[in-house]
Amino acid sequence: MSEYCKYCGTSARDARSLLAGNCPKHPAGAYKGKHALYEGGERAEYICVYCGTRNRSLSSLLSGSCPKHPDGSYKGKHSAYDGRESGPYECKYCGQSYREISSMVSSSCPKHPDGNYKGRHSPAR
Ligand SMILES: [Zn+2]
Ligand SMILES: [Zn+2]
Ligand SMILES: [Zn+2]
Repeated sequence: MSEYCKYCGTSARDARSLLAGNCPKHPAGAYKGKHALYEGGERAEYICVYCGTRNRSLSSLLSGSCPKHPDGSYKGKHSAYDGRESGPYECKYCGQSYREISSMVSSSCPKHPDGNYKGRHSPAR
């Protein structure tokens, strides 16, 4: 069992040694902070929480730019979903359920916090 960083996908044998290292893809800037634990554990596939893209490697998922990033299209990297391993997935705002994250995030949410239909559904953990 390996532990993974949710920003860069680096793995370590245990969480303590993972969290001791500085992260090259830390949100505050390269090596500006420590790795953070990805809570989803080891999986057959990793899914982006914004766009539903799947990748069998967490580090390669996290190194790709996301077409549905909340800051704007391709303005940031994919982010790995760490909730349940298979569907159905529920929207954390409106509770609607979908078999695939990719279909959930392609439509607007009637209860989005920015306003009705002002943003996309987002999977709850
Ligand atoms: Zn990292
Ligand atoms: Zn994405
Ligand atoms: Zn929703």
